[in-house]
Amino acid sequence: MKVEKKKKIIKTIKVDVDKCHGCRACEVICSAFHAVPKYSSNNPARSRIRVLRDPLRDIYVPVYAGEYTAAECTGRDKYTIDGKEYDECAFCRASCSSRDIFREPDSGLPLKCDMCESDPPLAEPMCVQWCLVGALTYEEREEEVEEEAAPEEVETGLEAMANKHGWQKILAAAARMSKKR
Ligand code: SF4
Ligand code: SF4
Repeated sequence: MKVEKKKKIIKTIKVDVDKCHGCRACEVICSAFHAVPKYSSNNPARSRIRVLRDPLRDIYVPVYAGEYTAAECTGRDKYTIDGKEYDECAFCRASCSSRDIFREPDSGLPLKCDMCESDPPLAEPMCVQWCLVGALTYEEREEEVEEEAAPEEVETGLEAMANKHGWQKILAAAARMSKKR
């Protein structure tokens, strides 16, 4: 089967863990920006970036919420970088059932970084703007990518979420999101 390609802007946030000092301003602004109505509240538990903090070991790792996954890992990795050992799951972006982060605290629905999509678009995502020490850097580049997922792939993903959380919660979250726009 011939796969169609198209041009797409790839948005990237580079994370420099050596510069991060764990202030959590990024979590605060992300949750406020996504509150409904905007800026009406802030709760880092609703943030789509979470900072893994272990001050005694000088470990601060900002991690962005990625895809939802219904399955927990059966094997996990540990990394040692510059003499620091990082916990299992430290760099993982998945919203999964083995931990509390990247899940909306009221509904339990998965959260995912949307790069602060808004109309008009922001020059830079809010977390990048609020990181005053430059641990987060925003970049854009153009790439050729395969066409978007077929509708049936999207349906399979939705079905997996519905099996876990129930359609009621998903529809309530969709209603909240559409109000926000
Ligand atoms: S705002 Fe910057 S320095 Fe503060 S926790 Fe987030 S990434 Fe780290
Ligand atoms: S880019 Fe926007 S949505 Fe993503 S973590 Fe940063 S503030 Fe939150």
